[in-house]
Amino acid sequence: MSQPTLFWHRRDLRIHDNAGLYRALKAGGPVIPIFIFDYEILTQLPSEDARVVFIHNSVTELAEAYREHGGDLRVYYGKPLNVWDEIRKEYDLAAVYTNRDYEPYAKVRDLAVKELLAKHGVSFHDFKDHIIFESEEVQKNDGGPYTVYTPYWRKWKTMMESRMVPFEGGEVSFYLKPYPTEKYLKNLRQGKAKESIPTLAEMGFKEVKPDIPAKEVPRKVIRTYDETRDIPGVKGTSELSVHFRHGTVSIREKARKALGLNETYLKELVWRDFYSNILQAFPKVVDGPFREEYKAIPWENNEEQFKAWCEGKTGVPIVDAGMRQLNESGWMHNRVRMIVASYLTKHLLIDWRWGEAYFAEKLLDYELASNNGGWQWAAGCGTDAQPYFRIFNYDSQQKKFDKDYKYVKEWVPEYGTPDYPSEPLVEHKWGRERALRVYKEALAEARGEK
Ligand SMILES: Cc1cc2nc3c(=O)[nH]c(=O)nc-3n(C[C@H](O)[C@H](O)[C@H](O)COP(=O)(O)OP(=O)(O)OC[C@H]3O[C@@H](n4cnc5c(N)ncnc54)[C@H](O)[C@@H]3O)c2cc1C
Repeated sequence: MSQPTLFWHRRDLRIHDNAGLYRALKAGGPVIPIFIFDYEILTQLPSEDARVVFIHNSVTELAEAYREHGGDLRVYYGKPLNVWDEIRKEYDLAAVYTNRDYEPYAKVRDLAVKELLAKHGVSFHDFKDHIIFESEEVQKNDGGPYTVYTPYWRKWKTMMESRMVPFEGGEVSFYLKPYPTEKYLKNLRQGKAKESIPTLAEMGFKEVKPDIPAKEVPRKVIRTYDETRDIPGVKGTSELSVHFRHGTVSIREKARKALGLNETYLKELVWRDFYSNILQAFPKVVDGPFREEYKAIPWENNEEQFKAWCEGKTGVPIVDAGMRQLNESGWMHNRVRMIVASYLTKHLLIDWRWGEAYFAEKLLDYELASNNGGWQWAAGCGTDAQPYFRIFNYDSQQKKFDKDYKYVKEWVPEYGTPDYPSEPLVEHKWGRERALRVYKEALAEARGEK
C-alpha cells in the first residue's frame, strides 16, 4: 500500500472548499484526515465551555461527512508534538498537509511539528485558507504592511480584482475561487479508523448547549446589511463569526456571495483580514499597545467596577444589555461591543487588556486578531484606532441605535423597575472629562511634551 498523506484540520472544520485538504487530495493520496484536541489549550479552559462543545460537535459532524465518502477522521487528544511523534511512528508517512494558523502559539507549535517531521524525512505543507489575503499579499506601494483600514481596503479590492478566472459561466477573482475538494474525495484512505472520538467527559468537559447561528444567512440580511447592521435589537448581521473562527464555513464562499449583494458586508469581512494582517506584521500587539505611549496610561483598574461591568450591572442600560448578551449567549452585537469597550476603557478607566481577556473567555467567536484589534481600537492605542478624545456617549448611542429600548429590554428584564440602578456607576460627563484629562496628561508625558 502506498504511503499515506495526513491532512491536519484545525481552524477549518469542513471538507467543502478547503484549500489545504484539496491540495492533499489532489496530490494523489491515500489521505487520512486528522484532528487533535490540544491538551495545552484545553487544560486552560473551564469545564463548562460552549466553544469546546461546539468544536466537539463540529468534529463529530466532520467525521460523519468523511464516513459518507468511505474515509475516516482520526481524532486524538494530547499535546500536539507528542501526538505527532506517535503518528509518525504509526504510519510510514508521505507528507503532512494543513492550513495556516497565524496566532503566535500556533506558529510556534507548527514550527516544532514541522521540525520533528523533517527529522524523520516527512515534509510539512501549509496553505492559506482562513483569510483571503495574508499580510504580505496586501502591502503598501512602497512596501510594508498597511496600518490604516481604508487604504488597506482599497488595495485589498484592487488585489482581489487583479486576477479574474472563469467560473460558473462568468468569472470570479482567483482569490475567491473555490477549491473543489469533492472531485478528489476518492483519494481518501478508505476504511474505519481504529479509535473513535474522545468524549467531552474524557477530556474533562461538561455537556452544555451552545446556541449556534445557522451557516446559511438569508439573502435579505446581506442585501439590507448596510441599513440594519448597527441596530442591536434586530437580526441585521450575519452572525457567521463563530463559523469563520472555526472554519465551519468557507470565507471565500461567503465573500463571493457578498460581492454581488452588498459591498458594506464585504468590507466587514475585510476588517477580519485587516486585523489578521496587523497581528501577522506586528506580533507585539498581543502583549501591549501598538502605540507605545499608551503604556503610560494610569488605569484606575477598580476591581468592583470591573465586576459590575462583567456582570452587566453598571446602571448604563446598553452596556448592561451587551454584557448580559455576552454572558448568556456567547455573542454580542458589534455596535454594542464598541460601546461596552469604550465604557470600560474611558468612563471606568480600566485597562483594555482586562476587557480583552474577559471577551476571550466568553466569546464563541473569540479570535485573537479581531478581539485585540477591536479592543485597541476602542482604547485608542491601536494601529487604526479612534482617537482617545472621541468618547462614546452611551445615551446618544442608545437614542441612535436602540431608541425604543427593544434590545435593552430583551437582555435586562428589570430595566425600568425599581430593581434597576437609578444612577450609572460612572456618569458620562464626569467620566468623559476624567478620561480626557488622564489620557491627555499621560500621553503628553510619554511623548516628552511635559
Ligand atoms: C471590542 C471588540 C472585540 C471583538 N472581538 C471579536 C472576536 O473575538 N472575534 C470576532 O470574530 N470578531 C470580533 N469583533 C468584531 C465584530 O464585533 C464581530 O466580528 C461581529 O460582531 C460578529 O458578528 P457577525 O458575524 O454577525 O458580524 P457581521 O456584521 O455579519 O460581519 C461579518 C463578518 O465580518 C467580520 N467582521 C465584522 N466586523 C469586524 C470587525 N470589526 N473586526 C474584525 N472582523 C469583523 C466577522 O468575521 C464577521 O463575522 C470585536 C469587535 C470589538 C469592537
